[in-house]
Amino acid sequence: MSEHKTFKQGKLFVVSAPSGAGKTTLCNKLLENNKALRYSISYTTRKPRFDEADKVDYFFIDVPEFKKMIDDGEFIEWAEVHGNYYGTSRLTVESIIGEGGDVLLDIDPQGARQLKATLGYGVYIFITAPSIKELEKRLRNRRTEPEDVMKLRLDNARKEIRLFSEYDYIIMNRNFDEAYKHLESVYIAEHLKTEDVKDIYELMKEED
Ligand code: 5GP
Repeated sequence: MSEHKTFKQGKLFVVSAPSGAGKTTLCNKLLENNKALRYSISYTTRKPRFDEADKVDYFFIDVPEFKKMIDDGEFIEWAEVHGNYYGTSRLTVESIIGEGGDVLLDIDPQGARQLKATLGYGVYIFITAPSIKELEKRLRNRRTEPEDVMKLRLDNARKEIRLFSEYDYIIMNRNFDEAYKHLESVYIAEHLKTEDVKDIYELMKEED
């Protein structure tokens, strides 16, 4: 996507999805193709998977460290998800937005709800697969989770899906290309909103 000159203000994009919906692959492509968008790496007490790296996928920390960060007010939101803690760094989000960059958060619906209530801004996107059966199939094919964790994630998926109406956009991941097109369309359209343009003549002058 070409850089559009109306991309003046940093925007917050919050993406949630049940496990197996394909969110990580979609978000990675969006980040690859849109350099103004930066990913906020979360903190978690979950153990890293075989293909994950510290400070890349997450900051992997232990429970006492996580609790200290809560007490010190370092999280803009945090939640317990599938039996582990996850949280978003306040400093990361505020500094990227402050510099005029866009931030992408990949967080669960509890965290999204907290952010919406406390910040009052942001673009909230829910990604899902066409059916629970399909989610289960994708989760099994991924082979990243033991059976008990997979069951827990599927149970939670049913609950998370019910919260869809709290989001601004729903992306149904039937196939990757279509879902990606929808996700990038949302990203582009959100930057073309008249509410973000303070002065149309100023904007038109930039085209000279
Ligand atoms: P996973 O263990 O599969 O990486 O992530 C499990 C869930 O935790 C996903 O729904 C993911 O979006 C969510 N998650 C990841 N980081 C955060 C975070 O910083 N805050 C919250 N609330 N949820 C997060």
